[in-house]
Amino acid sequence: MSDEIFTLTAHALRDRFRGGALRPSEAVEACLRRIDQVDGRLHAFLHVDREGALAEARRWDAVYAASSGGDGLPPLAGVPVAIKDNMCTCGLPTTAGSRILGQWRPPYDATVIERLRAAGAVILGKTNLDEFAMGSSTENSAFGPTHNPWDLDRVPGGSSGGSAAAVAAGEAPLALGSDTGGSIRQPAALCGVVGLKPTYGRVSRYGLIAFASSLDQIGPFSRDVADCALLLDAIAGHDPRDSTSASIPCPDFAGGLTPDVRGMRLGLPRETFGEGLERGVRDAVLAAARHMESLGARVEEVSLPHLEHALPTYYLIAPAECSSNLARYDGVQYGPRMETDDLITMYARTRAQGFGAEVKRRIMLGTYALSAGYYDAFYLKAQRVRTLVRRDFEHALEKVDLLLMPVSPSVAFRIGEKVDDPLQMYLSDIYTIPVNLAGNPGISISCGLAASLPVGLQLVGRPFDEATVLRAAYAYEQTTEHHRARPPL
Ligand code: GLN
Repeated sequence: MSDEIFTLTAHALRDRFRGGALRPSEAVEACLRRIDQVDGRLHAFLHVDREGALAEARRWDAVYAASSGGDGLPPLAGVPVAIKDNMCTCGLPTTAGSRILGQWRPPYDATVIERLRAAGAVILGKTNLDEFAMGSSTENSAFGPTHNPWDLDRVPGGSSGGSAAAVAAGEAPLALGSDTGGSIRQPAALCGVVGLKPTYGRVSRYGLIAFASSLDQIGPFSRDVADCALLLDAIAGHDPRDSTSASIPCPDFAGGLTPDVRGMRLGLPRETFGEGLERGVRDAVLAAARHMESLGARVEEVSLPHLEHALPTYYLIAPAECSSNLARYDGVQYGPRMETDDLITMYARTRAQGFGAEVKRRIMLGTYALSAGYYDAFYLKAQRVRTLVRRDFEHALEKVDLLLMPVSPSVAFRIGEKVDDPLQMYLSDIYTIPVNLAGNPGISISCGLAASLPVGLQLVGRPFDEATVLRAAYAYEQTTEHHRARPPL
């Protein structure tokens, strides 16, 4: 199996394209065959663009053939990538996992899609997600859940569960996800792949269907750290079309990777190893910390004293922003409309019909939190607590270079296990949400198995210091074998 094309990383594919050992169309065909073989069981994809991807790959076949060893070609030339279905892809269905958008096909590409195309990537298709990215299991998709490739009875995490499952199962070497409270890192952890949430502002949100705009960030999924850096290189950088995009220069993330952590200071936040953390997860993460120490890093305990307030803070801010962002889905501009005589009833029926239960819950929570008389008590107070959480990260990261902590308190849970208990579901993101509130970059990499299921290790860096996050992750990966473990599918 290890020699099969679908198991290759993006950088291995690229080397073979350049050496003439493989053509981009063969790589795309291998992904499509793998999708045919396993996606009936996984449901990672909502839409596969067979013709489009093959046509684009054949175009790259010809470009490679005419080049001398791929010289001067863009970094991802001919490499297939899967896209979470909340990013606008011109002419391809874009559902956000919701019925409310109907058959909508965006008339434009998100900035990340434009940049991927410019980097030579071939868009394979669109992956499943919790409706409007609200969830931690992909069970809130209007189109049915995605299954975890490691155990089909379990969730892949969410909300970018389709992207994580696709990469883990060999359906695509690379994928994009979005992370508002953990939606890249948590599914990456549960599926045993690499997932990075860049610093807020590092990657443009233009063309990302908005959930909570002060938290949303797009980032890469891959099977190793080198590929993660490669994909980040392609999508990162200032975009004048996103007013919160930062005009801070991007280093060459892939070119700058060195597996050296000697003298690096790593902090274990005491509050992330307490109650509620599964034994197997705790053991694997602490073993990873000892491994980093053996590589020359200095590990010490640090504190994030306001961490316990992060979850309630997020569940005021995120629903508040979502209630505002989702006001635009009213049957006028997009999707199916419930025709009635008066406008207000039309809005109400369209939204009642088009949104799922979790989205309605968030809209109601958010509307309540923002309503007159409650704004100061809820939203304003939450913003103040958010500042305290951000300062915790600032203070901790004055003493150490990176924080090392769990991603998810548990391994992948069973499908159906938490659907009726929103609070339990929300707790899945207890260690990822604080990082979104603070804005810092965080990666999830695999650090072993517990009960035959992957465990994620989270490394959190200073704002805009993805390079250090990637370097430490790379050092860990180069000296361990966990990232090579593949689901028995
Ligand atoms: N699970 C969290 C939520 O439901 C985070 C989702 C996300 O990051 N998009 O809001």
